[in-house]
Amino acid sequence: MSLIILDRDGVINHDSDDFIKSPAEWEPIEDSLEAIARLNHAGYRVVVITNQSGIARGLLDVDTLTRIHSKMRRMLAQVGGKIESILYCPHGPDDECDCRKPKEGAFSELASRLRIDLTNIPAVGDSLRDLQAAKTAGAKPILVRTGKGERTLAQGVPEDVAIYDDLASVVDSLLGTAL
Ligand SMILES: [Mg+2]
Ligand SMILES: [Zn+2]
Repeated sequence: MSLIILDRDGVINHDSDDFIKSPAEWEPIEDSLEAIARLNHAGYRVVVITNQSGIARGLLDVDTLTRIHSKMRRMLAQVGGKIESILYCPHGPDDECDCRKPKEGAFSELASRLRIDLTNIPAVGDSLRDLQAAKTAGAKPILVRTGKGERTLAQGVPEDVAIYDDLASVVDSLLGTAL
């Protein structure tokens, strides 16, 4: 059984600088849900680690986040995919928590929950802090150009970071189905 860690906004769904605050605002990136389903069928466990500071900022509450995630899971199920768990950080930048990326607290939490070593586990994100958290946790950071990805790329990313157009391309590569 393999594992993959995904950021949510900008990787699975379209991101917004105004935050995703309602189920209606959560819209999947083309082929991302199908890509997750392909991972599942290839034996991958899929976990999401996401910063949701909109909660600390008072833009949405936990109940709304739960409803957003229900929509994501429902739409994913319709194409035959499944996310095993979602670890979210509800804190803001000034809260000094351990779970907000670029900190790797959520990655450590996942590792101990699953009793798994994250070495070389692919971790896909669109922001520098996703890559930093992955790297600190010993996982393999992968950048996608969707979401804030192009912006991140323009600001410069470490040389050892793999770069792909989108999640579907990452999955093509992982599963050896790239053209
Ligand atoms: Mg993101
Ligand atoms: Zn946190």
